[in-house]
Amino acid sequence: MQNARKAATVRHDEAAALARDLATIPLDDRLRRAAELGHAVFTTSLGLEDQVLTAAIARSGAAIAVKTLETGRLFRETVELIGVTRSRYGIELEEVHPAKADVDAFVGAYGLNGFYESVEARHACCDARKMKPLARALDGADVWITGIRRGQSQNRSHTPLAEYDPVRDLIKINPLADYDLETLKDLVEAEDIPVNPLHSRGFPSIGCEPCTRAIKQGEPERAGRWWWENDDKRECGLHVPSAASPITSEAGKAHTA
Ligand code: SF4
Repeated sequence: MQNARKAATVRHDEAAALARDLATIPLDDRLRRAAELGHAVFTTSLGLEDQVLTAAIARSGAAIAVKTLETGRLFRETVELIGVTRSRYGIELEEVHPAKADVDAFVGAYGLNGFYESVEARHACCDARKMKPLARALDGADVWITGIRRGQSQNRSHTPLAEYDPVRDLIKINPLADYDLETLKDLVEAEDIPVNPLHSRGFPSIGCEPCTRAIKQGEPERAGRWWWENDDKRECGLHVPSAASPITSEAGKAHTA
């Protein structure tokens, strides 16, 4: 137990040193550096940040697998963007689907849209449609790349450029953590990066269709996600610090070192 704790401390220290290095280099070099650390997987939600990252991965030539969690409840616009992105960048963008048995079990217990009824039911749906597929998407990965930014919500305001995920035992790299939304919009325009048309209809953050609404002027970027819940720290569990995740999928636990 003591050895495991020591090893985790070493990996936390390595990640902190990596975060300091990444802060001094441009985006494409951050991605190349990530790929040098081992098998790197980028999970994209096809949101604006993630489209900027996909464009940068294609441009940089970094050996990074690009995957998306196709929950089966995505907006039509998001599903269409998967195909558009593949053709635009000539990349393999792998769709990871939930297991039918897991979805059936959720629907049997709570109903198709039972996630509106309680936080527990919502976590159960995210577990079946997102967390378990995420565990499969990251199976064998040494590095997990995400598009999360500090400016997206209070909950994400301390996101580091790199961190050690002790539950999944991998290095999580957030290469856009220190970017602001305006800079990313400028990049999208300058490089003509394809983005989800829903962004211009009031959806800065886009998840599953039944769980995402447009936001009003002045609301935080992620206010439209699970809007019926009161907890201002609401997340689906994907980016909650692993040890503190409210979701306890067996698949997620399978990555516990
Ligand atoms: S975001 Fe909504 S529909 Fe999507 S997995 Fe979570 S609860 Fe289910």
